Amino acid sequence: MAATTAPTTVTTAVNDARSLFGSGATRPLAARTARLKALRAMLTENQADFEAALWSDLHKSAGEAQLTEISVVLAEIGHTLRHLRRWARPQRGSVPPALWPARARLVSEPLGVVLVIAPWNYPLQLLLDPLVGVLAAGNTAVLKPSELAPATSELVTRLVPRYFPDGAVRVVEGGVPETTELLAQRFDHIVFTGGGMVGRIVMRAAADHLTPVTLELGGKSPVWFDDDARLHQAARRLAWGKFTNAGQTCIAPDYVLTTPDRVPALVDALRTAIADMWGSDPRAGRDYGRIVNERQFDRLVALLEGTDVVIGGESDPADRYIAPTVVTVSADHGPAAVGPDAPHPVLREEIFGPVLPILSVDSPQQAVEVINAWDKPLALYVFTSSARTRRLFEQNTSSGAVVHDAALIHAATTGLPFGGVGASGMGAYHGEHSWRAFSHLKPVLHKPLTPDTLRLAQPPFASRGLRLVQRLMRCG
Ligand code: NAD
Repeated sequence: MAATTAPTTVTTAVNDARSLFGSGATRPLAARTARLKALRAMLTENQADFEAALWSDLHKSAGEAQLTEISVVLAEIGHTLRHLRRWARPQRGSVPPALWPARARLVSEPLGVVLVIAPWNYPLQLLLDPLVGVLAAGNTAVLKPSELAPATSELVTRLVPRYFPDGAVRVVEGGVPETTELLAQRFDHIVFTGGGMVGRIVMRAAADHLTPVTLELGGKSPVWFDDDARLHQAARRLAWGKFTNAGQTCIAPDYVLTTPDRVPALVDALRTAIADMWGSDPRAGRDYGRIVNERQFDRLVALLEGTDVVIGGESDPADRYIAPTVVTVSADHGPAAVGPDAPHPVLREEIFGPVLPILSVDSPQQAVEVINAWDKPLALYVFTSSARTRRLFEQNTSSGAVVHDAALIHAATTGLPFGGVGASGMGAYHGEHSWRAFSHLKPVLHKPLTPDTLRLAQPPFASRGLRLVQRLMRCG
């Protein structure tokens, strides 16, 4: 169990982070770089412990822990170290002729103290990836790991003071009471990754202090699987995207839309792909994850009731194992096939587990209607060999990102902003977008006192001067 934190500890952590920020110690570029290197050292020198913690929390294999957690953060640090000097350089701003002569620059400055609240599904990556940008921008940070991944939470809490002895990064462990206490404090930015319900709580609390928020939420990310998609390659990528971390991925393909004719072949191809990657009995191998806790396990098993299970379906509460499962949902549906009013529970809420429903529709256009009838998803995956169909989905739907012929990989593309839209979140981070999200880009304008051209814009207005200023303003 994660240790509970007394309210005074919460207040102390935030106050200390604020006074360190106030001292200016985190602002110089050299200090930012040093902290990024300290974070890198924390990860590389304790890889085996992180792997063990992730195994304990989620039964993540060492390979998956490396690929989806540790290496993702290391890549983000490497990318940031390579580009930070350029990002942080003041940029020249343009001045319209009406204000000449004058000089303008855009100077970046850190925001202050940033709170990072993480979920349990990628408990290391989603805690430390935002931290990279927070430190690069010269802020101090308070981290709140998920109490539902206790081994990772405990390890981070133990290591952080060792690698950040001046307290630029503080960790507050705990669940709802501790997070509530944290949210009562004033922060200069909050990054929250989790569900929409708690996202609303975070935003309401942030509003009291007018604190800006980045909300990384979830939702049902759809897949269009076209008749012309290269069946076996596409099905393998789809299965990998879905069943990695036992489906407990915010950007996991949530449900598949395809034509009725395609369903049998797709099911066969998914069966082959699953066996190929996780063996005929995924439970026996080391590469397939487990459900995080009993509550989630029970929720997922309940979702399966009344569905046509065509692959998998086996489960074991003692091990919190649910096999990679594919179900077909035949329903009389209009556009409201997915969402709170959907006829089947598996299509009513984000699945967040290893259950993949296949829903048949008549055409890509009908798939677009189904997608648009509910909240904007975090990701949309399109498997097709037709550029026209790709364009159809790009231009007629809205989602955090669109990926063609693959799943998940946009989250590891450091140069791209990662985030949702509408109900799937607000704001984005990764790479330069993190640095921007956690910096204030401050315009600094210098208008020399001589020549005093501003006089033309000051009363008493002479008609010639006024006309000149108006003409110059139109040139800007
Ligand atoms: P969650 O919203 O239950 O919890 C996230 C964090 O909020 C945890 O640290 C938790 O301690 C805290 N929290 C929980 N209840 C709270 C309350 N009442 N008041 C204040 N704080 C509270 O989310 P989760 O179950 O950990 O993660 C699952 C959700 O996260 C899914 O919806 C998933 O799609 C989403 N998610 C999104 C991303 C992304 O990058 N967009 C990544 C991973 C997960």
